[in-house]
Amino acid sequence: MKILIKDGYCLGEEEGFFNLLIKDDTIEKIGKEIDDKADKNIDAKNCIVMPTFCNAHTHLAMSLFRGMADDLSLMDWLNNHIFPNEAKFVNRDMVYKCSKLSMLEMIRGGTGCFMDMYFYEEEVAKAALEIGIKGVIGEGIVDFESPSCKSAEECISKTKSLQKEFESGNIKVSFAPHSTYTLSTDSLKKIADAAENSIIHIHINETKSEVDMVKKQKNLRPLEVLNSLNMLNKNTYLAHCVASSKEDMDLIKQNSSNVINVPQSNLKLASGIAPIYKMINKGIDVFIGTDGSASNNNLDMLEEIRTMSLTQKVFEMNEKALNAKESFNIGINPLFKKTGKLKEGYKADIAILKLDSIESVPLYNPYSYIVYAANSKSVDTVLINGKIIMEKREFVDIDEEKVKFEVKEIAKKLGSIF
Ligand SMILES: [Zn+2]
Repeated sequence: MKILIKDGYCLGEEEGFFNLLIKDDTIEKIGKEIDDKADKNIDAKNCIVMPTFCNAHTHLAMSLFRGMADDLSLMDWLNNHIFPNEAKFVNRDMVYKCSKLSMLEMIRGGTGCFMDMYFYEEEVAKAALEIGIKGVIGEGIVDFESPSCKSAEECISKTKSLQKEFESGNIKVSFAPHSTYTLSTDSLKKIADAAENSIIHIHINETKSEVDMVKKQKNLRPLEVLNSLNMLNKNTYLAHCVASSKEDMDLIKQNSSNVINVPQSNLKLASGIAPIYKMINKGIDVFIGTDGSASNNNLDMLEEIRTMSLTQKVFEMNEKALNAKESFNIGINPLFKKTGKLKEGYKADIAILKLDSIESVPLYNPYSYIVYAANSKSVDTVLINGKIIMEKREFVDIDEEKVKFEVKEIAKKLGSIF
């Protein structure tokens, strides 16, 4: 199968008006003149053609809890609202249906890849494979009984069987310890031993009170706990990192670990602003994620990237902190090989933004438009692995109405009005 995207403004290694030829799942050619006959042509005149975004920290099935409990602190929100409702309503069926809703929401906004942490992650993998989106799944590991596992140990062995069942070109399986405050040192050590070279995805330093709590529990800061167990390495992804000291940043840098900025959730729960501009200047690799819809309350990466850039400027009191292009590059920072770039030989994970909205006029700089003016409604067409998932804002093989209806049916039990 060959697809030719014609006359778009491409944000590739070279930027400008190019044609782009896709063969099966790969970008075969980018050039001014491409004579090859394609099975399908996409007219990208008056469009920006770019790599899809990567939402590096989320809890997809939490779309069920969108807007159910707002305006609360992290611990009040978690302990009095999220954990009790999860105990009641999270099951295999709910995770499948609610994750699917989130996947559609992400694709609408130009996202082609995610990293999730939740329960019944086999259902997230199944939904992702059906929809055609790439994902890193991770069964959330805690020391108390979770909706899907009786103990941390059970969850560790479940993660290993998920790896056997689902690891493929489109799905990776991480070890996903929830945090250093919901797991004992002993359980964390078991995870460290089991993880070997797998991705570790964990919440860390989300608030100052979390850091204080862990210091009381374990006499170490959260990152020192991970370091003492050799859990910090290049495969470790640290979500939040708001309450990070200089020593914390040094530990992250020394171990080549990755940081995921989650700006809107951190603002909404009044957790603070992560010092990611300082981290980037230290050479730390930074990603961005939306968190789940229960604390955001959407999965719009364009909004998230704008918020990241604006919060860093205020945090640093420096208008140059995270300019538009730097912010865009964090949004496309990839979790899968040969993705995150429009480049020959790379996977055809492509978002096409149509420039027909009022806020797209005039357009001097595409990064400025994307980061500071665009919204998810600008995203017109999305391809993942060369497959058209959404075309002209319509899903090609997915019944959007059915996906929405099924989540509404579950949400009625929680008191959803519509
Ligand atoms: Zn989270």
